[in-house]
Amino acid sequence: MLCNDWDKKVHELRDSPLLLIDVDGVISLFGFALDTRPHGQFLMVDGIAHFLSAVAGDHLRDLSDDFELTWCTGWEEKANDYLPRALGLAGPLPYVPLTGRAVPGAHWKLAGIDAFVAPDRPLAWIDDAHDDACVEWAAARRAPTLLVATEPPAGITAEHVGRLRGWAGALA
Ligand SMILES: [Mg+2]
Repeated sequence: MLCNDWDKKVHELRDSPLLLIDVDGVISLFGFALDTRPHGQFLMVDGIAHFLSAVAGDHLRDLSDDFELTWCTGWEEKANDYLPRALGLAGPLPYVPLTGRAVPGAHWKLAGIDAFVAPDRPLAWIDDAHDDACVEWAAARRAPTLLVATEPPAGITAEHVGRLRGWAGALA
């Protein structure tokens, strides 16, 4: 029955690991030389030009088979106003509320993530700005936790996708 299929999908999503997705440096690229600009397109957001990776949408769609995709970015809910349409993703996606949650001395996203994600939920987090505190935090989490680091001029790559899918497959 349709209803049961839907229940099953919800159940699978709940059981799948989260993928926390940073935007700047993962999807929105920067720091490249103008003569080596990667493939992509400009997107205006509140009067600021962002250069979106041409491959990020395909990579995130691939990852949606294994993960529940979730924004984890200073863009917060604004990510949903622009990115699903620009990237060809089914949206809106959940997002981690971060504003006003930073704790002095810790990476600014950690308290928001801890408030959002149940401690026993496996998660992967792709970001260009993890620090040592994030590595310690990931090692101390009760559930499997994977940090994937990007380079801002390239953002998410096929190699990252392979690592993420391999990790998620090993959990299942
Ligand atoms: Mg970033």
